[in-house]
This record gives sequence, C-alpha cells and structure tokens, in this order.
Amino acid sequence: RSPLTSIRGYAEAILDGTIPYENKDRYLNTILFETDRLNHLTSNLLTLNTFDQSSIFLEKSTFDIHTCIRNAVDSLEGSASKKNVSFILDFDSSSELNVSADINRIQQVVHNLIDNAIKFSHNDSSIVIGTKTKGDKAFISVKDTGIGIPDEFKDDVFKKIWERFYKSDTSRGKDKKGTGLGLCICKEIIDAHKQTINVVSTEGVGSEFVFTLKVAK
Ligand code: ADP
Repeated sequence: RSPLTSIRGYAEAILDGTIPYENKDRYLNTILFETDRLNHLTSNLLTLNTFDQSSIFLEKSTFDIHTCIRNAVDSLEGSASKKNVSFILDFDSSSELNVSADINRIQQVVHNLIDNAIKFSHNDSSIVIGTKTKGDKAFISVKDTGIGIPDEFKDDVFKKIWERFYKSDTSRGKDKKGTGLGLCICKEIIDAHKQTINVVSTEGVGSEFVFTLKVAK
C-alpha cells in the first residue's frame, strides 16, 4: 500500500468523523510516520535519478574519515538510543585518517550503513565502526550483531541487496520504513570512486559491511 493511500484515507476519516475524535492522535501519528516514509523514499529516488542522468559527478577533496564517521554517529544517536544501541569506534589511530573522495557522497554511505545497522540490530546491543589501512587503501567497516541476512540462496541474496527496492525481510516486517534503496545508493557511490563494498553476514548473528577508500597522500 502506498504511503499516500494511508495519509489520504486517515486524513479524510478524521475530517468526516469516521474516526472518533478521541482516537485521532493514533491516526495522526500514522500520518506522520507515512509522511516520513514518503520523504525518505522521494529523496532516495531523487538521488538515484541524478546518478542515472549523469554518471555520478564526484567532487573530490582530502578529508578525515574519522570526523565523517563521528558526524554520522551524532546524527543517528537519537534513533540508536531509542533501542539502547551503543556505538564502539575502533579507529586505526586516535588521530585523523585522511582520504581522497567526495565528502558529501561518502557521508551518505556512512550514514546509510549505520542507519541499517541500527534498524536491523536487537535492542541493547552495540555497533562497532572500525577503520584500518593497508597500503594506500582505507577499510571502513560497520558491524552489527543484529538479525543478519537469511542463509537460503545466500549468494543470490547477497547479490540482490545492492539492487533497487530489494528488501530481504518484508515478511517479518521488521523495517516498515525501509525503501530498499539505501544500499543501492551506497554501491553506486563506491563504484563511482572505483572502490569496493562488501558484506559478510550470518542470519541471527549479525552483519558487517566493509568499503574501501583511497588514503590521501
Ligand atoms: P532498506 O534498509 O531501506 O530496506 P537497503 O537498500 O538499505 O534498504 O537494504 C536492503 C535490504 O538489505 C534490507 O531491507 C535488509 O533486508 C538488508 N540489510 C541491509 N543492511 C542490513 C543489516 N545491517 N542487517 C541485516 N540486513 C540488512
């Protein structure tokens, strides 16, 4: 069902009295929830649309990936604390790790991966975000101990999660707000940088997403 169908239906039912006045808050909350979902979907679709029209234009600069990770963690602190999920930052060094990439795009990749890690984590757990370097490559990993990705047809599922609108968990309905576009956006951004992004995951144990970036000289 499209979010607009519920938004319209509930707004109409509140106005014409089908929903009793004393129950209105519950339905207004659904309207808010669906509005958020639609916002999220629209902005993801707009992002992918710009990728389609012009192969992603990168504005590269040198920046500290640790600061980028801390920014994402700060902005997602609210949704993490609702589930009592904490973050462990396991950085390569206590100082900066400068990489050469498009800072806004990479900020989005980090945000999407941490956002997913929170969504698919159990309450009262931790997410480890680590960095490592090897030669001129930086490895950034986001690891959760959540529901993981189903085992059946593993290779198939692992291939599919990067595709548009793919959601492996629709039946369990754990994540009603998901659009199935977040990982696709991550993959296109990392491909455009000529870097790699991979996942290791076990159902019921957790998932680890790792991507690479070029270390700045
Ligand atoms: P969304 O999260 O909006 O559904 P994504 O493209 O970000 O879309 O993710 C696609 C699917 O991959 C998710 O619906 C989920 O099934 C699976 N997935 C992504 N990240 C994780 C994770 N950290 N743990 C378990 N499953 C995940």
